[in-house]
Amino acid sequence: MKKEPFVTNEQLREIVKQFPTPFHLYDEKGIRANAQAVREAFSWNRGYREYFAVKAEPNPFIIKILKEYGCGCDCSSMTELMLSDALGIRGENIMFSSNETPPQEFQFADRLGAIINLDDITHIDFLERAIGKIPETISCRYNPGGVYKVSNGIMDNPQDAKYGFTKEQLLEGYKILKQKGAKRFGLHSFLVSNTVTNDYYPALARTLFELAVEIKEKLGITIDFINLSGGVGVAYRPEEEPNDIRAIGQGVHKVFDEILVPAGLQDTAIYTEMGRFMTGPYGCLVTTAVHEKHTYKEYIGVDACAANLMRPAMYGAYHHITVMGKENQPCDHKYDIVGSLCENNDKFAVDRMLPEIGIGDLLVIHDTGAHGFAMGYNYNGRLWSAEVLLQEDGTPTLIRRAQTPKDYFATFDCFDILKDMNYEYR
Ligand SMILES: *Cc1c(COP(=O)(O)O)cnc(C)c1O
Repeated sequence: MKKEPFVTNEQLREIVKQFPTPFHLYDEKGIRANAQAVREAFSWNRGYREYFAVKAEPNPFIIKILKEYGCGCDCSSMTELMLSDALGIRGENIMFSSNETPPQEFQFADRLGAIINLDDITHIDFLERAIGKIPETISCRYNPGGVYKVSNGIMDNPQDAKYGFTKEQLLEGYKILKQKGAKRFGLHSFLVSNTVTNDYYPALARTLFELAVEIKEKLGITIDFINLSGGVGVAYRPEEEPNDIRAIGQGVHKVFDEILVPAGLQDTAIYTEMGRFMTGPYGCLVTTAVHEKHTYKEYIGVDACAANLMRPAMYGAYHHITVMGKENQPCDHKYDIVGSLCENNDKFAVDRMLPEIGIGDLLVIHDTGAHGFAMGYNYNGRLWSAEVLLQEDGTPTLIRRAQTPKDYFATFDCFDILKDMNYEYR
């Protein structure tokens, strides 16, 4: 599918007058339409809830929009819990799917009434010691081990993943939790990341639904909710076919009717914890070409760097790039698009065929709305960019200002470095 930015060149030229590049831009209209489609796709399930994975885009303005569509928060750290609480998302609207969790975070999650999703059998005792009880509602994360395949060949290796209980531990764990007073039980699993197929959730649902039936038969424990977690991906590449959430919802419905309904488990609620699918395609990184360099390769240096978007450097991830205003020109130049870090993997694209780029051209790096800004870091003293929301009426609004040197130096409590700097800083 042809990938087009959600802003026009004219719009963007206006926006950059107000907000200097680089910045992440988000499409409110797209986020809303998608959240509505997700809600509709699972409306067949009475208890359905999407818990937005806060780590994907921890911005209160974005989470508030998702909340309007019934989304809760999937948190895994203290600050994510605090953000959720500040937005009035509490109680069972929080799924606390953490791992290697400090006791204070279990305590805070419990104080907010969050559903705690345990990552390991040893965390049962750990949680009990941390909060002085086992909550009435509790969830466990399952790791089936082995290699997990989805029909189109997408796979991952759960056996190498640090998360979750083995099957034996899971059966033992539910038994212990019940003895310790738990009354409502959840089952969770996250097996493959960024799947671009409508078959992943239905395949995972089959695995978990069959397990829920087995748990009922073997232990007499009814699983109240099944959490399919994240993993629904984004078509980062133009040749990929985007996921169809309606088809995915229908696929899960079919397996639900086939396995859970005949087992008398028709009241099971389905939960999801999508991050990438909720916001990924509705964000982009806007950057300006500031240098060109002709050595053994052709380089375009831009004013963004891996500190603003780490995925290409970290995973070699593909992000599509549009040179604004040159959409219809031939892609007859081969470039590396590079940032300023003193780190040779700071490349947004390698050997990418693009139209001829001139200094001052605006580049849109697509699909940065999830795990984009959020993974930002401060290597080389590079500062976080701003985040701007393109509202439904086309007005750009600042939803997070750019970091300043003052922010960057703020943690030197014992050494007030700023008082020795008697010059202006942004
Ligand atoms: C990261 C994560 C998610 C979200 O994953 P996406 O691939 O962004 O949908 C959901 N649940 C847990 C526990 C996670 O760690």
